[in-house]
Amino acid sequence: MVNKKKELEISLSKISDFENPNVKFEQYMTSAEVASTMIHMADMNGDIEGKIIVDLGAGTGMLAIGSALRNPRGVIGIEKDKSALLIAKRNVSTISQEIMVEWVLADVEHVPIKTVDKVDVTGIMNPPFGAQKSYKHADRNFLEKISEIASVSYSIHNGDSIGFIEGFVEERGGVISHSYSVVMELKKSQKFHTKTRKEIEMEVHRIRWE
Ligand code: SAH
Repeated sequence: MVNKKKELEISLSKISDFENPNVKFEQYMTSAEVASTMIHMADMNGDIEGKIIVDLGAGTGMLAIGSALRNPRGVIGIEKDKSALLIAKRNVSTISQEIMVEWVLADVEHVPIKTVDKVDVTGIMNPPFGAQKSYKHADRNFLEKISEIASVSYSIHNGDSIGFIEGFVEERGGVISHSYSVVMELKKSQKFHTKTRKEIEMEVHRIRWE
């Protein structure tokens, strides 16, 4: 199992990206650096070892696979895009023969986890921001779902969404216990992107769902 944060980042740098990112689903992979920092912090907080980790919108597996490298009881990656899950499965075999992730092809709206006790579940996710008009409030749906199934969650959001997140969490009786900013460099993935690379400021929140 991988222990140091740097080792985790090196392992995760081998994860393959989306082949044809679907702009409507806001598909972009979390960088190995941001993912390893997030997972390492979750592990230090006692939120990974022995827990069931749920990654909503697992994509090609960055956060699910990174969590699987840190001794959880189990990891479930939920994703509605079949082609992303195919890459995620390949990524598991590239990274380690010793880890297991249960991949579920489903929309987060219909997540079939009801039997597991909330106390044992940690959510880790990089939800769509709802930047696409047709996809407005997508991160709200993800937060809503994770609040139902997990006692704690880690999620990445657009830098300016803190007002919305605070309001939502309070409404749900939750508490934001930690937050920090990260800058992620996004590669050009769509024809309409004018620059080849763009730096975006984002925030990671640890939320306790009481
Ligand atoms: N967790 C991955 C991917 C983040 S991109 C990573 O950190 O690298 C967001 C992912 O959410 C995409 O793979 C997209 O296909 C998926 N997604 C978007 N809406 C969804 C929905 N309603 N249900 C399930 N997955 C969804």
